[in-house]
Amino acid sequence: MDRRVGRRLHGLGPAHVARLVPTDALIDALIADLRTLVAFPTVSSRPVTAIAAFLAERFEALGFAIECFDDPTMPGKTNVVCTIGPADSDGLVLSGHMDVVPTEGQPWTGDPFVVRQQHDGRLLGRGTADMKGFLAACLSGLASLDLRRLKRQVILVWTHDEEVGCHGSAHLARTLQALDRRLPSACWIGEPTDFQILRKHAGHVGVEVRLFGRAAHSAYPELGANAVVGASRVVAALDALGRRWATHDSGAGGEPTDQRAGSFAAQGVPLNVGNIHGGTAINIVPDRCTVQLGFRPQPGMGHAALFAELQACLDEVRLPDGSRLESELLRVTPSLLTRAGTDLQGLLARHASTPDVGTAGYATDGGNLVAVGCEPLIFGPGSIKVAHQADEYVAAQALVEAAQQVAAVVTARCL
Ligand SMILES: [Zn+2]
Repeated sequence: MDRRVGRRLHGLGPAHVARLVPTDALIDALIADLRTLVAFPTVSSRPVTAIAAFLAERFEALGFAIECFDDPTMPGKTNVVCTIGPADSDGLVLSGHMDVVPTEGQPWTGDPFVVRQQHDGRLLGRGTADMKGFLAACLSGLASLDLRRLKRQVILVWTHDEEVGCHGSAHLARTLQALDRRLPSACWIGEPTDFQILRKHAGHVGVEVRLFGRAAHSAYPELGANAVVGASRVVAALDALGRRWATHDSGAGGEPTDQRAGSFAAQGVPLNVGNIHGGTAINIVPDRCTVQLGFRPQPGMGHAALFAELQACLDEVRLPDGSRLESELLRVTPSLLTRAGTDLQGLLARHASTPDVGTAGYATDGGNLVAVGCEPLIFGPGSIKVAHQADEYVAAQALVEAAQQVAAVVTARCL
């Protein structure tokens, strides 16, 4: 029996001490917390203040000190940081985002913000996999421990606006840097990976290209400069650049600055033209058109060099006479490359569904948290394959396992 995990959990008796046993009470608590978390409709366009207050209250009750980091430029948004244990003891960060992606236009078979339990144990609802299930698992997993005995610090980082560019973690990292504060190196981000450890991912850079032409009556196109036609040439040039970057036949951005990142060069830099907006009526020569695109630098590739290469490509585009363009970097989400063999990797490996340590196909808050000393690993319940879709789900069994893992990893590293 390990007395260090001997605190009662949700009314369970003293027999429940050796490890977090998957009792009905544990499952009920996990599902109840998941219901509450999903019921906050925290689509990234909406505030997170209510869910932040809920999490703050619950973790404060477990003994955590609570700090909220508000971004003054983003009303209704905050990052919640919960801290417990001896300061500067290089313990463990558990992190997740509070926001979810929209549900509009998706064929949900019920209210996305009401968790529905299926006979096979699936729990349906927006954010069940990505990633409120992990938040629920942290609540139960941490509640099962005697946190007063911590030898190392546990810090919880709950962010906003991860789904629209990791803005919350970017703001938090900047703020902590300004305060000269570091976080523990072991950093567990509970994104849905079906319990596979992921230690790397590409970044994401958003760019807007704006074309300015000259309006005219469509009967006299020679009097105007057609911005939509200009945009079509921009799109063609970007398409060609994207095909070059797919094999990473690029110039300045092509040399990985980090030797460990060398193998990523072979994966290329995916480029996607995401949307195009221009024109107002079929009998007006359009004077404005906007194209938005994104590209994904691999770890070790400087985004600035790639953006410069993209701008050089745009400079070569032959625009209709009398028109011009400008381009702007909209956002930069850093890539991630955590070294192999961290202590946390060893602890998570005991619970991993596969020995293979992989690469995430998406960016995470981890890229930003590197700046404050973290070596993030991505590992969690549920599948990214059902995230962002109608009838997203997580299995109740996976939540139980995640709660057990949280208790076991915190015990091993911090108790
Ligand atoms: Zn996510």
